[in-house]
Amino acid sequence: MHRTTVELLSAKRDGLALSAEEITRVVSTFMSGELADYQMTALLMAIYFRGLTDVETVALTQAMLHSGIVLDLSSVPGTKVDKHSTGGVGDKVSICLAPLVAACGVPVPMVSGRGLGHTGGTLDKLEAIPGFRTDLDVADFTRIVREVGTCMIGQTREIAPADKRIYALRDVTATVESIPLIVASILSKKLAEGIDALVLDVKVGRGAFMKDLETARRLASALVRTGTAAGKKVVAVLTDMSAPLGRAIGNAIETREAIEILHGKGPPDLLECTLVLGTEMLLLAGKAEHEESARAKLADAIAGGHALGVMRRMVAAQGGDARVVDDPSLLALAPSTTIRADRPGFVTEIDALALGLAGVAMGAGRTRTDQRIDPAVGISIDAVRGARLAPGDALARVYTESAAPELLQRIRAAFTVADTREAPAARPLVLARVDA
Ligand code: URA
Repeated sequence: MHRTTVELLSAKRDGLALSAEEITRVVSTFMSGELADYQMTALLMAIYFRGLTDVETVALTQAMLHSGIVLDLSSVPGTKVDKHSTGGVGDKVSICLAPLVAACGVPVPMVSGRGLGHTGGTLDKLEAIPGFRTDLDVADFTRIVREVGTCMIGQTREIAPADKRIYALRDVTATVESIPLIVASILSKKLAEGIDALVLDVKVGRGAFMKDLETARRLASALVRTGTAAGKKVVAVLTDMSAPLGRAIGNAIETREAIEILHGKGPPDLLECTLVLGTEMLLLAGKAEHEESARAKLADAIAGGHALGVMRRMVAAQGGDARVVDDPSLLALAPSTTIRADRPGFVTEIDALALGLAGVAMGAGRTRTDQRIDPAVGISIDAVRGARLAPGDALARVYTESAAPELLQRIRAAFTVADTREAPAARPLVLARVDA
């Protein structure tokens, strides 16, 4: 029985399932212009309220994936593995993780995004490197993955174009926060990279899109089920995003911090997040038998300078100034103003969302897609959660040409300093793990 578009809309409105063939037809007629934006929007709202079954979610993911090209990386030997993060504040993990995992012999083809809302984007951070190009074509991308082990580019026009158009409608019709729609959106882009396996970092907390563990767990499990049904090896790790990851928020400043990790320096939480995700990638690629050996391989790749070597070659292959890999301070920052504690106590909370939004207000992110960002602005945290402060100690440094009093006050207010006897209990970084 061939149901009309209106019949499909009313079926979903009433909570009934569509067949895989019907979902494929909806996406293809939407892309050809036969199905109007207002009909797609009505369907998206019905999905928001009624959800999708696993079969429907897989069909939507596949239809969106095949609205564009699927990269063929068969000329690159080995199990190709990527990582995707649902986004957070200070999350620069991809920049150190991709060269690190590639240095352990796992090819990492990475198609990344730009900043979204209060969260930063890998492409914006990488473009802080003078000359670095993220708009390479598919042939160059494949060649660099083959020759260097990793390459990091942006979504081309040919990758999942249906996602681009559907996301634009969701963004303005209050239908972003739907688990099956998020799953299809993320996986349609990631599966187009020609990968064999995927590690998902699902961020949880104030600075993340998923604010609570329960919702994050539902998203993680739907991503793993759908990715597995699409024939990929998929693991998700849920990690804390109540405070920013690492100490740096901004573009040049985050790229500096990510490179520091490959020098064997950098903040412990950022290193730990990188090692946790790297371990999962090595295990999926079959490059390590168990967690300990994976961690040892990753540690050796840092200590022996192999990861830095891959990063140097990747930056050069993508047109960037590779000297920044040896000297990250070459990445220019705006002049800084230090914010100091006005009372003694322990830092008990750092509001990741507030700092992310302050970063956007300074020009590190966008409020409209056509805005230019300023790579040199940012925030560095001096007093991390648990730090003991005396009056006058530095809380944070703010890098901008125009440090207005309201901006500084806003950043100061993101730090909760309590006059308690003891430091707050440490929070675990990894909250849960979901596999098939
Ligand atoms: N990120 C995406 O790529 N898509 C969504 O729908 C939400 C977050």
